[in-house]
Amino acid sequence: MYTKNQLLEVEITDITNEGEGVGKIDGYTFFIKDAMIGDTVRFIVTKVKKNYGYGKVMEILKRSPFRIEAPCVQAKRCGGCQIQEMAYDSQLVFKRNKVLNNLVRLGGFDRDRIERIMEPVIGMDGEPFRYRNKAQFPIGYNKEGELIVGFYAGRTHAIIPVSDCLLGCEENKDILDIILDWMKQYDIPAYDETSNKGVVRHVLIRKGFTSNEIMVCIVVNSNRLPHQNELINMLGSYEGLKSISYSVNKDDTNVIMGDNYHTIFGSDTITDSIGDLKFKISPLSFYQVNPMQTKKLYEKALSYADLNGEETVWDLYCGIGTISLFLAQKAKQVYGVEIIPQAIEDAKNNAKLNNFTNAEFFVGKAEEVTDRIWNEYGDKKDDEKAYEMTHPDVIVVDPPRKGCDELCINTMLKMDPKRIVYVSCDSATLARDLKLLCEGGYELISVCPCDMFPNTIHVETVVQLSKGDIDRDSSERKSIAKTDDIGMISGYNKGNKAPETTNVKIDFSLENLDLSELRGKATYEQIKDYVSEQTGFRVSTLYISQVKRKCGLEVGESYNKPKSEDAKQPQCTPEKEAAIMQALRHYGMI
Ligand code: SAH
Repeated sequence: MYTKNQLLEVEITDITNEGEGVGKIDGYTFFIKDAMIGDTVRFIVTKVKKNYGYGKVMEILKRSPFRIEAPCVQAKRCGGCQIQEMAYDSQLVFKRNKVLNNLVRLGGFDRDRIERIMEPVIGMDGEPFRYRNKAQFPIGYNKEGELIVGFYAGRTHAIIPVSDCLLGCEENKDILDIILDWMKQYDIPAYDETSNKGVVRHVLIRKGFTSNEIMVCIVVNSNRLPHQNELINMLGSYEGLKSISYSVNKDDTNVIMGDNYHTIFGSDTITDSIGDLKFKISPLSFYQVNPMQTKKLYEKALSYADLNGEETVWDLYCGIGTISLFLAQKAKQVYGVEIIPQAIEDAKNNAKLNNFTNAEFFVGKAEEVTDRIWNEYGDKKDDEKAYEMTHPDVIVVDPPRKGCDELCINTMLKMDPKRIVYVSCDSATLARDLKLLCEGGYELISVCPCDMFPNTIHVETVVQLSKGDIDRDSSERKSIAKTDDIGMISGYNKGNKAPETTNVKIDFSLENLDLSELRGKATYEQIKDYVSEQTGFRVSTLYISQVKRKCGLEVGESYNKPKSEDAKQPQCTPEKEAAIMQALRHYGMI
């Protein structure tokens, strides 16, 4: 049995959905923080359970080929970026596997089918940094009692001082410096969680990437913002600053924002565009954080909705109506539902701003609003509007991490739309909900992961479900292999992006993100060494090329191809064939 604080060494052969490395010693599994699949590490045991334990890397003995230097010095300590040390291409593979594994394990879907219908992960073009349009920085004190701003360390509320987070925009640092100066100059204390005393809890900064408009909202544990005019004087002239507000949150809670906000400078909202549409965003409204990827995500959702202008569509969990208005461009009528009243105010204003008259919004819980409308109008066949509303052609849902309420799923099933488009930020709850929808008669047609959150373990997924006539030609994904035998990321461009339009089969078994599958193309020498180490057999290049050919792998022309059909060549024995196959599997080549 292992003990806490013991130092051990292990090869990391897998990765969890949370990004921890997995290593096995004599059948006992360790989950190791900061370890990357492909590393060999020395680690300290931090927790021991009966069948598994936890650890933390002390030293990397052999670097994984998927490891890169993290550009942020705080990457290890900060809880924000869990996989910044993983090359971006590998991150996309990790995310694809996460979605796939959740759908198979939690949703009960057939692995082969999911592999067939899953589109390539939509990755970011260019550098996967500086993409966030919003950041919420906690403010507190360090051990020396100095005021600090930053992010929480993983799983704790210790603040790691980072004012220039590389995921956020460059203005954040300047703005935070001004706010810290203001607090110091006017003796405004930061909030202390343990005593529930102090004033400033968090600073929210949001930037419209297309408009360059900036919003700052200070979350305070007091009824008013002290020295607000002084703050306006110090911050109001910052370039692009369009709105300063404060939000009162006096609760002993992890929830960051209060229920309301008060604007003290400029306007209540900032504006941003996605595609051809403009949106006004207020401090409390949800707005997707990665604008470059949001456009791609919404376009995918819109293509899955497959509208021709005649449809009635529901957009449940609609936020400020972003997806609703994307849909309204191509639908007859869209209905949006959202729980936050201010977001619905924004949604209505956004519909006006973009001259839409075919979008209507409801405040309330999606499950309650849809249930109420179904009960009230579901059987009113003579009333055209009531009928269309309760029998939509398409329902789009984009719930928070906890997924859809079961009542909501049941009402969706009663409304019986032809298509359902599910946008999800948590593939575990997505899998659970898809299972229910498919048990209710829907078929999963397409799945497309989208990387909204590079360098983190999170992944967004868009899914299309259909009922009735399914256009097989367009629905079955045309995922044709680019037939090189590199297991890992054969399909992706060598740069950072996974092409959106080219369908690429990622050619490895996705049982887990197994190390062997990440290793790629092994040389003949590596295969020989592996076979010899594992089995003691010595195998020739000829035998390896025979087995590779048998497995459908490309073999260089010069590799011992028989000169004519009847040429006599020694043939690989079954034992050696099995040993070579094992090596090919180990290197992810089959
Ligand atoms: N589709 C929007 C928002 C998605 S985020 C966009 O892309 O911007 C999920 C939204 O669901 C949030 O706006 C949240 O406030 C809202 N929400 C959470 N629980 C809800 C519920 N039970 N009913 C309706 N909306 C809810």
